[in-house]
Amino acid sequence: MRLVLVGPPGAGKGTQAQFLAAHYSIPHISTGDIFRANLKAGTPLGLQAKGFMDKGELVPDSVTNEMVKDRLTHDDVANGFLFDGFPRNVAQAEVLRAILAEKKTPLHAVLEFSLANEEIVARLSSRRTCKECGQPSVGHDKCPQCGGDVYQREDDKAEVIARRLEVYQEQTAPIVSFYRNEGLLITVGALGSVEDITAHAISALSRVSE
Ligand code: AMP
Repeated sequence: MRLVLVGPPGAGKGTQAQFLAAHYSIPHISTGDIFRANLKAGTPLGLQAKGFMDKGELVPDSVTNEMVKDRLTHDDVANGFLFDGFPRNVAQAEVLRAILAEKKTPLHAVLEFSLANEEIVARLSSRRTCKECGQPSVGHDKCPQCGGDVYQREDDKAEVIARRLEVYQEQTAPIVSFYRNEGLLITVGALGSVEDITAHAISALSRVSE
């Protein structure tokens, strides 16, 4: 299964991506996670991305697309993949379509998680992230997954959240129409329990032929 997850920041894409990737036995490719891992390791890619990430802006397409192109050469994508946080604009969606067309492995579906703006702001401002494993959580002093210390991501602070939402509306929301026109879009409501949302997504995807 070759999937893309779309949705505003805080819609729970990362959490759903983990469950869906496990369900379909495909790698979960989060461009945000790759950037954060590079940042932590102090690589040139991480340093390039940092300024943009801290401000809630998109990392330039030239950097992001090269990173994705490279990721798609790894052996683990042979049976599919799930992108979370990529593409983030129509130009990236076009690059992804071209890469996959060349490999004759087009997408099967694009899952959109929809959520009202007030709920997004409430979720993001109370979200904490594990320093060790990167797992997001709300209302915990220690990571509920691995027990590591949690911190507030620089881009989950109020000023940056507002900018990330603007960036989503201006740059990312247009990919929803792009994928609707391609006949790939499936929309799932992102309000409810994690388990219910995963079940809805899997049920909707069961109607997609691989
Ligand atoms: P995320 O973890 O998906 O919320 O991403 C965190 C930050 O990483 C974003 O606010 C961007 O600065 C950067 N980023 C992640 N994915 C992309 C992408 N596809 N294109 C450009 N920037 C990205």
